[in-house]
Amino acid sequence: MQRRSCKPSPAEITGVIALSLALLLSVLSPILALFPLSLFLLACLVAPFFPRFGFFLPVISRGSPAGNQVALTFDDGPSPLSTPILLDLLARHNLPATFFVVGRQAAKYPDLITAIMAQGHTIGNHSWRHDPMLMLRTPKTLQEDIHTTQEILTKQGIRPRVFRPPAGITNPRLKRVLARENLLTITYSCRAMDGGNRNVRNLAAKILRRLRSGDIIMLHDLPPQRQAWSDYWQKELDRLFSALKDGYQVVALEEIIRQPVMMSGSDNPLNLGDFMDAGGADIEVFKDAVADPVDPAMNGQFLA
Ligand SMILES: [Zn+2]
Repeated sequence: MQRRSCKPSPAEITGVIALSLALLLSVLSPILALFPLSLFLLACLVAPFFPRFGFFLPVISRGSPAGNQVALTFDDGPSPLSTPILLDLLARHNLPATFFVVGRQAAKYPDLITAIMAQGHTIGNHSWRHDPMLMLRTPKTLQEDIHTTQEILTKQGIRPRVFRPPAGITNPRLKRVLARENLLTITYSCRAMDGGNRNVRNLAAKILRRLRSGDIIMLHDLPPQRQAWSDYWQKELDRLFSALKDGYQVVALEEIIRQPVMMSGSDNPLNLGDFMDAGGADIEVFKDAVADPVDPAMNGQFLA
């Protein structure tokens, strides 16, 4: 397998420059040497929350504005309470989408992964249990979390090539982990600030007001927190999908980022026949991890 290149990140380059400046300035005054180091530290503290600037690692957050194209992505599923609804709506509008799935949800609902794939959509890695503090965990935990999700999806015939960090937060260690897993970081450039479908009010209008050509739209594959909002949520999505078709060319994520989104388990471009032959996931080894149901209770826990 060809791993992604590990060129120095802006953070690594900036760190070397800051250290060199500090050494030079320390000749004049130890106090002066603190300035470049402090600025570097400040940049490191702020950068995790602005992944699109790619300070720690390369990040794709949008596509080219040429061509009036946009792409749809849905995070945090699959869920039996929302995925079938989404698939039905997408089929009705004949729109492609990418589902950034949570590993333990995928292990728990392999049939929903099959249904997503059978409809021609693609799947990305959105971590094992969507821990919003994942980037503060040890490197070993970070590695295991992402790798375990890759493993469970590979058992289902899918090898994602894209990773979306939980809550959109990155850290310096993520670059090495993703290089090992041959994953690329994909975020988004347009969202409804729906808080994991805790707030679906005016969902369509919020997206359409912010939408620009080349945008990667991020929505959630989670049921609205209040059951009473389910019909409203579906109508908002129906309205959004109609408007997207009228005003934009809705393309698959891999088309707008010009990179493969996933491969088959044998490292070849995914063949749906192979996928269907792969059967359900072997979830036995994960039974402890999935013993604690996360759906629908997981709804509302996440920021993104
Ligand atoms: Zn998420």
